Amino acid sequence: MTKKLLLINPVPKNDVNLGKMLSFMRMPPLNLGYIAALTPKTWDIEIVDENIRHYNGEEADLVCFTSMTYNAPRVYELASHFRARNIPVVMGGIHASMVTHEALQFVDSVVVGEAESVWHRLVTDFENNNLQRVYNGERGSLKNLVQPRKDVYSRKYNIRNVIQTAKGCPMNCDFCSVTAFNGGVYRQRPVEDVLDELETIDSKLVFFVDDNIIGYGKNAEQRSIELFKGIIDRGLNIKWGSQASINFVDNEDVLKYARESGCFGLFVGFESLNESSLKSMHKVRNLESGVGKYREEIRKFQNYGIGVLGGFILGNDEDKKDIFERTSDFILDSNIDGSQFSFLTPLPGTNLYQRLKEENRLLYTYYPHDWIYYDVFNVVFRPKNMTPEELEEGALNVYKATASVPKSLRRAFTSLVRTRNVLSAVAAYSSNRGYASIFSRKYGSR
Ligand code: SF4
Repeated sequence: MTKKLLLINPVPKNDVNLGKMLSFMRMPPLNLGYIAALTPKTWDIEIVDENIRHYNGEEADLVCFTSMTYNAPRVYELASHFRARNIPVVMGGIHASMVTHEALQFVDSVVVGEAESVWHRLVTDFENNNLQRVYNGERGSLKNLVQPRKDVYSRKYNIRNVIQTAKGCPMNCDFCSVTAFNGGVYRQRPVEDVLDELETIDSKLVFFVDDNIIGYGKNAEQRSIELFKGIIDRGLNIKWGSQASINFVDNEDVLKYARESGCFGLFVGFESLNESSLKSMHKVRNLESGVGKYREEIRKFQNYGIGVLGGFILGNDEDKKDIFERTSDFILDSNIDGSQFSFLTPLPGTNLYQRLKEENRLLYTYYPHDWIYYDVFNVVFRPKNMTPEELEEGALNVYKATASVPKSLRRAFTSLVRTRNVLSAVAAYSSNRGYASIFSRKYGSR
C-alpha cells in the first residue's frame, strides 16, 4: 500500500507573524520541497504550511516538521496528537538542531543539521521499522542537488519560485545561528545547476533565499556575476529578489548585472546606526565602510533600479533611548525603500543567547512554552539602557513615524522615483505596511 508522508511548516495559532502579515512575500518552505524530492516516488506527499492553512486532521504514515525557535511549541503540540495515534514524528530544522535534547522529549526522531544527506536513510529505516532517535546531517557539496518538488506546493504563494544558490556563512554574527546551522564555509551551487533550475520554473518571480547572494570574498563575488550574466544570456527574463551584504555596492559590475538580470530588491542587514553595536555584533562588513556611508550605499542600489529593504535591530546593549528617534530620522531622510525593525533576540545556538543567559537577563525561560516569544517581535531579555516596555514602545513609535499608511505611500512613491522600478516600490510598500501591522497588532493598543 502507498505510504503517506505529511510535511508540516508549523505556525502557532493566532500568531501574528511574517508569513501571515507579509502576504506579498509569502513563499513556500523550500526545505520541505527538498525533503519531498528526496523521498522515494512510491510515497504520497502532502505539505501543510500553516502560513496558508492550519493542520486539519490529515492522516499520514510518517510526519515531518521543520522548525524555527518560535514555532517549536506548535510542533510539540501537534506531535502529541500524531504520537497518540501511533504515527511517528520527525523534527528537523534549526531549533531541533540547536536544542536536540529538548526536541527528543516530544518527537520520535530528530534530524540535526542539513537533512539532505540523511533523509533517504531515515525513510528506509522507517520502512524497516527501525527509525533512529537522531540523524546527523552532513554539510555536503551543493553540486548536482536534486530539484525541490514544486508540484507539492500550494498554489497560494505570491512567490512560488524559491531557489537557494549557496549555504553557510563565515561571519558568525553574535545574534545569528546561520553559521552554527549551515557552517562557516560558504558553499556554492555551480552556476549552471542554478540556471538549469531556473529554466524549469513556471512563473517569472523568483526569490533566492541565500543569506548573502554575493557571498564572501572575490571568488564568490565573481560567481554571483556569472550567475547574473547567465540569467541574461539564457534570456530567462525573471524578476528576482534576495538578501545581500552591504558590500554588494562596492563592485559596479555586481550592481549592473544584478539589475540587468532582473533584480528588483534586496534585503540588507544594516542592523544598527550605532557602530559600537555593530562591533558587539561582530558585523564586520558593515563596519568596513561605516554607518556614515549607509545613505550613499542605499543611493547606489537605487541608482541601479534595486530597492533596499533594510533590517535594523533594536535593543542592543549600546542603544540608549535616543536610538528610536535617530532610527526614524535616518529611515526618512535616507529614503531607504523598505525597513524592518526587530528586537535583538537571543536564539538558542547563538553567542548572544549564551551571554544573556550567563548574565541572567533572559525574561522568558519557561521552555519550551516560552519559545513562542522568540520571534524577533517580542522583547525576551532585559535591555541595558531601558526597560523592556520602553524598548517595545520605542519600536512601535519608529513604525508609526516611518510606516503609517501615508508615510508608506510617500516612501513607495520616492522608491519609484529613485529606482524607476514599479516592483521595488510595490515591495517597499507592502513590506513597510506588513511589518507595521505586526507591531500595531502586538502593541497598538497602548
Ligand atoms: S547575520 Fe548574515 S553575515 Fe551575520 S552570521 Fe548571519 S548570515 Fe552571516
